[in-house]
Amino acid sequence: MAGNAWRSTICKLLERYGAWISGQRKPKEVSRIMGAVKSQTQPRTFSRGMQTVTIIPGDGIGPEISTSVIKIFEAAKVPIQWEERNVTAIKGPGGKWMIPPEAKESMDKSKIGLKGPLKTPIAAGHPSMNLLLRKTFDLYANVRPCVSIEGYKTPYTDVDLVTIRENTEGEYSGIEHVIVDGVVQSIKLITEEASRRIAEYAFEYARNNQRNSVTAVHKANIMRMSDGLFLRKCREVAENFKDVKFTEMYLDTVCLNMVQDPTQFDVLVMPNLYGDILSDLCAGLIGGLGVTPSGNIGANGVAIFESVHGTAPDIAGMDLANPTALLLSAVMMLRHMGLHGHAKKIETACFDTIRDKKVLTKDLGGNSKCSEFTAEICRRVQDLD
Ligand code: ATP
Repeated sequence: MAGNAWRSTICKLLERYGAWISGQRKPKEVSRIMGAVKSQTQPRTFSRGMQTVTIIPGDGIGPEISTSVIKIFEAAKVPIQWEERNVTAIKGPGGKWMIPPEAKESMDKSKIGLKGPLKTPIAAGHPSMNLLLRKTFDLYANVRPCVSIEGYKTPYTDVDLVTIRENTEGEYSGIEHVIVDGVVQSIKLITEEASRRIAEYAFEYARNNQRNSVTAVHKANIMRMSDGLFLRKCREVAENFKDVKFTEMYLDTVCLNMVQDPTQFDVLVMPNLYGDILSDLCAGLIGGLGVTPSGNIGANGVAIFESVHGTAPDIAGMDLANPTALLLSAVMMLRHMGLHGHAKKIETACFDTIRDKKVLTKDLGGNSKCSEFTAEICRRVQDLD
């Protein structure tokens, strides 16, 4: 099939799956989207005074760790007000799965969300809630800073890197079909537009966060066309960011080097599947998902910050959960909102509590309850005033 015919077939498939591809939109629409992407990767200007943030407590331990963050924010006198929304999948017109309109309206208005873990029962019959949120708000960049926490012993020290994962396409485009009995095909979709916007996000992130280098992670030696396109867009974008060092590395080489010496990495940008795997690997270097924050940056200025661990049903409601991952995600959110002073204060109080080792939750090697760990951070936040 000729190139254009393939492209048109893929476009039709994508239309059916509710996705989009560059070139399908009118030029005006594209420039509006790129403008939004550009403007939201610059530090955003939020008006002074109270800001509203949508909070989605989530399931399992979600409500406990959300309460902990709310208490710590109160202690730090953060000028935000929470708008709580629950998120479950509902069937909309035409049987399409969607999030409840109240949650969507709140996010559309506030543009900023903080989210606890959400469960998707295997037999639920609807897509994962995280996937639904990603699609609803076109959350195209998943950002996970992995920084060693002093006093929390792990096999590695001095890790300080950030993984930036393209969140909307690649192997996770959701385009799969049976060719004949016993043979299935899954399409890895890579577009110029999505590759360019994630590369631009990564370089702007590096520049805005005083980072020195961006490494594009790929397998263009094997997937010459798809990863080749991704890599080409990274190279092109790198030309506009001469102040940031650009390197490219095969995924397997990154994995090998990462476990030998993670300190050699700074910002890493990669397609969806590689990012899913590598970001968890990197979280493991600093102590796991319980201490790793995460942010999802979307088009139109929307951003949702979240803890990436699960709902931990085994300890839900027992006051045993560790709220660190959600708290550090909330700190990321504050920096995104330009509230750097409050972010620093809360982060310092959290890290000091862990370094001191006197009040720690069980997963961090202590005996304290979630509420006691929270109270200790609140006390330290107030002492820093
Ligand atoms: P889900 O089905 O939502 O993914 P899960 O139990 O399969 O839940 P996790 O929730 O990630 O997966 O939990 C894995 C293990 O880590 C569990 O023993 C859980 O108690 C523990 N855990 C996860 N998050 C935390 C946390 N924030 N604080 C303390 N323990 C946690």
